[in-house]
Amino acid sequence: MPEDAIPHAPPDRFHLLAKPAGAACNLECAYCFFLDKAALYPGARTRMADDVLEAYIRQLIEAHRSECVTVAWQGGEPTLMGVDFFRRALELEERYKRPGMTFENTIQTNGTLLDDEWGAFLKEHGFLVGISVDGPPELHDAYRVDKAGGPTSARTIRGLRLLQKYGVDFNILTAVNRVNGDHPLEVYRYFRDELKADWVQFIPVVERIDADGRRLRQEGDTVTERSVLPAQWGSFLCAVFDEWVRHDVGVMFVQTFEATLRNWLRLPTSAMCVFDETCGAAPALEHNGDLYSCDHFVEPDYLLGSIREQHMGELVGSLSQRAFGQAKADDLPSCCRECDVLFACHGECPKNRFVPAPGGEPGLNYLCEGYKAFFRHVEPPMSALAGLLQRGRPAEEIMPLIRVADDRREKTLEAAFARAGRNDPCPCGSGLKFKRCHGSTAG
Ligand code: SF4
Ligand code: SF4
Ligand code: SF4
Repeated sequence: MPEDAIPHAPPDRFHLLAKPAGAACNLECAYCFFLDKAALYPGARTRMADDVLEAYIRQLIEAHRSECVTVAWQGGEPTLMGVDFFRRALELEERYKRPGMTFENTIQTNGTLLDDEWGAFLKEHGFLVGISVDGPPELHDAYRVDKAGGPTSARTIRGLRLLQKYGVDFNILTAVNRVNGDHPLEVYRYFRDELKADWVQFIPVVERIDADGRRLRQEGDTVTERSVLPAQWGSFLCAVFDEWVRHDVGVMFVQTFEATLRNWLRLPTSAMCVFDETCGAAPALEHNGDLYSCDHFVEPDYLLGSIREQHMGELVGSLSQRAFGQAKADDLPSCCRECDVLFACHGECPKNRFVPAPGGEPGLNYLCEGYKAFFRHVEPPMSALAGLLQRGRPAEEIMPLIRVADDRREKTLEAAFARAGRNDPCPCGSGLKFKRCHGSTAG
């Protein structure tokens, strides 16, 4: 369809997530919200047929006005489709692309099915691979288990090593939950020092369940015992940030910190939908051509239509999808509108806005406490980082600045310890008496 024939034009570029195997997966992670989605297509063998694949790639290209198109595959487990499915997708990209158009092919996987054929294919075609790892084996295996309940860490790491062997670009996606949420440095250092990763995404596990304990729809304000706690999420981010800003700026990329810095710089977008003012440019395509508003809203009320019946451009540009994206800004409770870190947080993802705000107004983000703590904690270094970049200085210069500030704080603290009386509050801020805290060795 020529672009001027699309009644409501979609954004110039959008980030569609396609699920070629639907919710099907070879694993059964305890917190997986995809698996319950199988109930939407009862009895169906969820594999994308060739006519849907062709319609998808052709329409995706037609709907884009940008020169670069992202073709993003995820699941369930997309590698269940086999390499030939993705070869065919690449053929279709070549067939339908406009002159000068380029593609960014990405795939999100649990890594357990990767083999040499995959490694060679992904490298040859420049795929960016997201691989899901929740930390060192004992933390990863807490919830990331196979269908028999067995651990999966060894299989995932074998897949990751295979990607490294072939020189495939990869990043790590970590679901931060109630277990690994207490071990931020262990998780982060494992990725940096053991796995030699340099790009990490941390995603909070917030599993909302309905009265029957199911996760099919976003209902109720009850979360599972696997969900990260709000304060735990904030502490996790703060601890990783403190390590990163002292040692790894410019060599490790943590998506949340990159997005936060972009918001500190007041750039037009944070590049993470959850931290933008509005959203709606990340629809999800099911195996059968059904298009939903977002991967987190694959549920009947958010079904935009089928690309077998209506052009994807129309669906992504539709009034209902625009309303979905605009609601992220319009539905903020007043405590968010008045919040000092709104410019960075934007109320995060609407899927997590299900607790009452102080005063009873509905729609506060479940993770608010954590985000508030994190954004306030990073304020001084983020401002300094933004200042460096605005002056054309490299971001890495933040690290010696922070160390100087640390030394100064340490000296100030030492002087305060020297002055403190035994029954004074400890200057470290623990809330304990000095004699019970840093003064305990003083006799
Ligand atoms: S690997 Fe991904 S899709 Fe499969 S069960 Fe785990 S979280 Fe779900
Ligand atoms: S609902 Fe959440 S995940 Fe989906 S597009 Fe909006 S902010 Fe992003
Ligand atoms: S930190 Fe809390 S109050 Fe502030 S914008 Fe985020 S969710 Fe709203």
